[in-house]
Amino acid sequence: MNIEVLELGPMANCTYLLTQGHDALLIDPAWDMNYIEHTLKTKGADLRAVFFTHGHFDHVKESEQLLRAHGLKAYIEKNDVLLSGLPEDVLQPYDGAQDIKIGPFAIHIIPTPGHTAGGVCLQIADAVFTGDTLFPGACGRVDLPSSDPRAMRKSLLTLSKLPEDTRVFAGHSYGGKCSSNIGYERATNPFMRSAIKDEKVIS
Ligand SMILES: [Zn+2]
Repeated sequence: MNIEVLELGPMANCTYLLTQGHDALLIDPAWDMNYIEHTLKTKGADLRAVFFTHGHFDHVKESEQLLRAHGLKAYIEKNDVLLSGLPEDVLQPYDGAQDIKIGPFAIHIIPTPGHTAGGVCLQIADAVFTGDTLFPGACGRVDLPSSDPRAMRKSLLTLSKLPEDTRVFAGHSYGGKCSSNIGYERATNPFMRSAIKDEKVIS
């Protein structure tokens, strides 16, 4: 599986293009559909599915056009459907943890509320796409509508239990960096460390 990061828009958003052979998945396609379409075309990639890590506008913006062009419905956790502002006919809502197989990709969806109520992380092979839940050295904001600081701590604790060599790909490249791995975050991320330290209280 090849993972390509497309940094798009003025907010350092990271869209991820996963390819295996000609099969492709997109995670959080937003901002620049022309660039995304061009990239798919250049690679000869067949877009099989689209996933949103959560419904914030900067992760879904302009994606309706792409979804309609490819006749796809984007997977989104049901609690973030309204937040996305997208029409229901381009969405495929689901409820909580899921295992979804699409072509060569096995996608394990881990609900990680905290930043938003319907926020999820997508575990695919040895990678986890964390949206705005986990960033290298930080976590997402928990002061927004439908945020929940307690849920965020629990979600960080959940992520800390993934295999330590799991590669982390976050929803923004704040500070120029969007990737890390679970072992490094477990050892150095102050928010994850605090969640681990308070495991008994949190769970
Ligand atoms: Zn967000």
